[in-house]
Amino acid sequence: MQLLRRGDVGTDVAEIRSTLTRLGLLPPTDPQAPPVFDQQVEHAVRAFQQQRGLIIDGIVGPATYRALRDATFSLGDRPLAFLMSQPTTGDDVLMLQERLLELGYDAGRANGVFGQQTEQALKNFQRDYGLIVDGMCGPDTVRALRQLQPKVRGGRPVLLREQERVRNAGSRLSGKRIVIDPGHGGQDRGVAVDGVSEADLMLDLARRLEGKMAATGMEALLTRGPNNCPDEAERARFANEAGADLILSLHSDGNSSAHAQGVATFHYGTATARRPPSARRWPGSSSARSPRARRCGTAARTRRRGICCGSPAARPSVSRWAT
Ligand SMILES: [Zn+2]
Repeated sequence: MQLLRRGDVGTDVAEIRSTLTRLGLLPPTDPQAPPVFDQQVEHAVRAFQQQRGLIIDGIVGPATYRALRDATFSLGDRPLAFLMSQPTTGDDVLMLQERLLELGYDAGRANGVFGQQTEQALKNFQRDYGLIVDGMCGPDTVRALRQLQPKVRGGRPVLLREQERVRNAGSRLSGKRIVIDPGHGGQDRGVAVDGVSEADLMLDLARRLEGKMAATGMEALLTRGPNNCPDEAERARFANEAGADLILSLHSDGNSSAHAQGVATFHYGTATARRPPSARRWPGSSSARSPRARRCGTAARTRRRGICCGSPAARPSVSRWAT
């Protein structure tokens, strides 16, 4: 899809404006007025991105667009079922998962993705309540879900289990399995300056870290080699399948100012599935906004770089790992 940013006009902008209004992030506007992506819309997009733990850049790209679309669904708006090829995502799926969890059915992590575990939990619910066991969340199932009053609201067994696992794992680093994720790779070079690319730098850094970690008794695994570039979901899947205690995603950033320098760390904890990431900024850091807000690779005149750890794009899976 085409990126939408401040200054753009058109039907796509109208759609985004109406979604943001529906979400209470933008005041209603005159329907006769031309649909402009103005400063107010940009602020609303930034607020939305912050709420959803997305990269905060005020630009509507594929991830923000998908999240905006997901946010428009409420439980009962459409039938929901497990689709192997392209799992359904949306706030309605999240509501279903939370409802099932409240009723004591293990739908896994409430992440807004209708996966196999959600289907199994839904079937168990349907079986127990005398509904047709088809794993499809249609009007009858929604009605049954709404009629039942759970004795206890809130509380997330999945999160409690995870917190317990983190607590049991202790704070010692030796014996931990760490996945190091050098950003970019293969054809994707990331930020490149004077023939030096982010992809190579980060692989070099990752290998050095791997050696140091191994020397102190940690088990370190890399998500990629010099010639490949797994997408972010593949990197997250790799770490989950490895049962990693922690993933470190490494990037170096670019800035057009020669004075820019510093290090930023973004970390993703286990508190809630949809909480925005916390970012910690070291003194001397380059700008007031997220360094990853500027897409890597766009600032060719970079003179200095910082390193950011914990790729925001890996958010849905990262929340499994310990802080
Ligand atoms: Zn990067």
